[in-house]
Amino acid sequence: MGSGDKENKSLRRALHLMTSKVERNEAILKSFFEMEIRLLGCSRLDQLLDLILVEFREYFRLSAVNLILLDPESAARDLLEDYTPPEPGHSLRFVNNQRLLNSIFPTAELRVGELSPPLKKLAFPSTPFVLSSALLPLIRQDCLIGSLHLGSNDPTRYSEHFDYDYIGHLASVISVCLENCINQQNLKRLSIIDMLTKVHNRRAFDQEIIKELSRANRTEKPLSCLFVDLDYFKLVNDNYGHQVGDKVLSSVGRLLKSSLRKTDFIARYGGEEFAILLPDCSHQQASQVAENIREKILHMIIHSASGEPFRISASIGISHCNTLQHTHLNFEQLAHQMIKTADNAVYDAKHSGRNRVIYHEMPVNPDKQQYSLNSA
Ligand code: GH3
Ligand code: MG
Ligand code: MG
Repeated sequence: MGSGDKENKSLRRALHLMTSKVERNEAILKSFFEMEIRLLGCSRLDQLLDLILVEFREYFRLSAVNLILLDPESAARDLLEDYTPPEPGHSLRFVNNQRLLNSIFPTAELRVGELSPPLKKLAFPSTPFVLSSALLPLIRQDCLIGSLHLGSNDPTRYSEHFDYDYIGHLASVISVCLENCINQQNLKRLSIIDMLTKVHNRRAFDQEIIKELSRANRTEKPLSCLFVDLDYFKLVNDNYGHQVGDKVLSSVGRLLKSSLRKTDFIARYGGEEFAILLPDCSHQQASQVAENIREKILHMIIHSASGEPFRISASIGISHCNTLQHTHLNFEQLAHQMIKTADNAVYDAKHSGRNRVIYHEMPVNPDKQQYSLNSA
């Protein structure tokens, strides 16, 4: 073989190597670009987290994906109340301050390669087989808001000798998406949640009851409504102070949430009054639910600021609606009547001694309406 042939061959090899490198880079860029679009398409935090924690792993062929999020006011955690992370405890962690994040990123720059044992334990607490990794600082407005850890069991996957501009870019996109989702969803949540009790507010209830009545009508299922009014609550404030009163209200909110189904809707309707919608629930079942709540409230032990234990009780009114019996009313009128009926039942419960459950039937015939729709 002449020297020209040799040169040609080595040139061809070099060209081939270069072409395949370009092709590989293009494929990587394309996969990052696709992922970016999917990240930007997420409107909910749980969707976004599933994408990052579950799909990243498969899509980028990783052995572990871990995320630490700065959540000083628990806004993200509040939004994720019903969310179960894929690997409980380790894939997703929250921190209240930046201490841990600053210790991972002393220079706020991407970290790639092999990790020191303590850092590995910190970054991948449940995955010992990570042999190389990329730790991505998530930054918004010069502030570290999180840390995303991509781990591989291939020791050559992430190395200090390569550039990872595209990963840095992905980290920026993720940071923006996380911040957006949390802010947007939190704003929406603030408009429908009562901050003291963490149940829905009255405005949300008034919208929900219409939705539920319409659903009940469509599915031909009944809907029950409970009004829970705490007894002598003014005395709680008078005897133990307003702050203790607030504590009682938030405890009742927690108690209601833990006692009811996910499909039930709980709202703080007024100061010390809660309203609950029980879809697909007969009035007998609703009475049982109400009785259970009444007993739980009665057995709740609350402590005053000085540690003195005391109890409270509640009066509960129930109304129940089978929309097929009320075709003469539209959903707004029906909602109004359900609320009014439950409220009247509470009134009766108060007058017959408090700490009890009373069911009132809804007036069926328009000519025999017990309550004027204009009176509330
Ligand atoms: P009844 O058994 O007839 O329902 O008596 P009550 O004292 O519970 O009812 P009333 O309507 O007379 O008083 C309600 C009290 O609830 C008065 C008000 O100060 C208190 N309250 C309303 N909202 C809040 C709140 O956000 N925090 C606290 N601590 N108290 C509240
Ligand atoms: Mg009241
Ligand atoms: Mg009361």
